Amino acid sequence: MLSELAAIVGASHVATDPDITAAHARDWTGRFVGTADVVVSPGTDEEVAAVAAACAAARTPMVPQGGNTSLVAGAVPEAGQVVVDLRRLQRLEVDPVARVAVAGAGVTIGALHRAAAEHGLRYAVDLASRDTATVGGTIATNAGGLRVVRHGMTRAQLLGIGAVLADGSRVEHRPGFVRDNTGYHLPSLLAGSEGTLALVTSAQLRLIPLMAGRVVALQGFPSIEAAVVAGTAAAADGRVEAVELMLRPGVELVCTVTGLAPPPAAAAYLLTESSSPDGLPDDALVALDPADVTRLWSYRERHAEAIATLGPTHKLDVTLPQPMLAEFLTAVPGVVAAAYPDAGVWLYGHVGDGNVHVNVTGVDSGDEELSDLVLRAVVDRRGTISSEHGVGRAKARWLHLVRSPAELALFHRIKAAFDPDGLLNPGVLSA
Ligand SMILES: Cc1cc2nc3c(=O)[nH]c(=O)nc-3n(C[C@H](O)[C@H](O)[C@H](O)COP(=O)(O)OP(=O)(O)OC[C@H]3O[C@@H](n4cnc5c(N)ncnc54)[C@H](O)[C@@H]3O)c2cc1C
Repeated sequence: MLSELAAIVGASHVATDPDITAAHARDWTGRFVGTADVVVSPGTDEEVAAVAAACAAARTPMVPQGGNTSLVAGAVPEAGQVVVDLRRLQRLEVDPVARVAVAGAGVTIGALHRAAAEHGLRYAVDLASRDTATVGGTIATNAGGLRVVRHGMTRAQLLGIGAVLADGSRVEHRPGFVRDNTGYHLPSLLAGSEGTLALVTSAQLRLIPLMAGRVVALQGFPSIEAAVVAGTAAAADGRVEAVELMLRPGVELVCTVTGLAPPPAAAAYLLTESSSPDGLPDDALVALDPADVTRLWSYRERHAEAIATLGPTHKLDVTLPQPMLAEFLTAVPGVVAAAYPDAGVWLYGHVGDGNVHVNVTGVDSGDEELSDLVLRAVVDRRGTISSEHGVGRAKARWLHLVRSPAELALFHRIKAAFDPDGLLNPGVLSA
């Protein structure tokens, strides 16, 4: 098997040395650690197909991996599985007239933004992991990020896709335009499939014009409820690009870890971005030039990094219906403290569309009861157990709380149609 893989991709692109494979065996949070016996890095679509065919012939399960920034253990391999690292797929072309990018699966979201910006364009999906997360990984997870409130999630940006199935066959559909009504929409189906249906090799992505200007405002509120009410109103304004909520303990932690100057004290903060300064409240900190924009965004974007300094983090990203948001945010620290009095609970999120990132530190990283407590508190309030990070291995046990038996049976039939031998990412999306 190893020599066959080496013959396909070249010996230097097959890794078995633990010094190299270790980084592919664990997730970004450090909470989930698996075993990466072999990491293979194909450099072309043809090589991906040949790798898949070789693994299929040997009945060896494959774990597709991009930037490995998954927060739900979506790309953590087990012994006997081959990690297929797709980062060498670096094709990147921008058609400024059609406003379409064709990007290889390994292109990072940051690189895509930079290439689009050369033509006065941008990609509508943006997230703090932009310089590591890949086009393939963000499609596989249907990543959301900072601008969903205005532009939708990754699925809404997909015009076409190139993919390799578990048996090594290639499937491509690249119309290059939105108006294409020719049956099942493969890009939509692969968006959010978390590497269980196919290896994404490339995509056609819709691009949009760069913002005319960027106006970022940071505003403090005396209560969570007041911030949520203001965030909901901001989200309804069609010009607003991002509406992010932070709470005082999280902002204080970010300032301690990063050395950023603390903003005026408040119980909760809203960070909003739009292209116009119209309608900004008098008491907001406002950034108009690029350095200040980056600085204000740092309060929000550096939360994950700051929390990670406290040890492996239990991350639960969820969505609540807007009327339940403030109540959930207020209640969840108590829900956790009742069972884990020493835990730290850090809450923030893309609140404009109901997203909350619940981060818990100081808890045994293997403890699943914590997930059970929080996810059931979400479902009790008619929310969903995954807002944007996906289900991965971390939440597979709880999928039945939000998807009916009939839906899950259909999931299995779709999986069987794409991957009848169950070779792609076993354990992900299915407990
Ligand atoms: C600091 C930080 C901030 C983040 N912010 C956000 C955010 O705002 N919004 C958000 O949605 N997520 C966020 N994430 C989570 C993460 O960045 C996303 O889930 C991202 O889409 C993962 O991309 P990746 O390339 O790292 O994929 P990986 O982590 O490598 O893989 C993710 C999943 O996709 C599969 N996969 C990867 N590549 C392919 C491929 N080519 N074909 C088929 N399957 C594949 C894997 O098997 C796995 O199931 C954040 C993560 C970090 C660390």
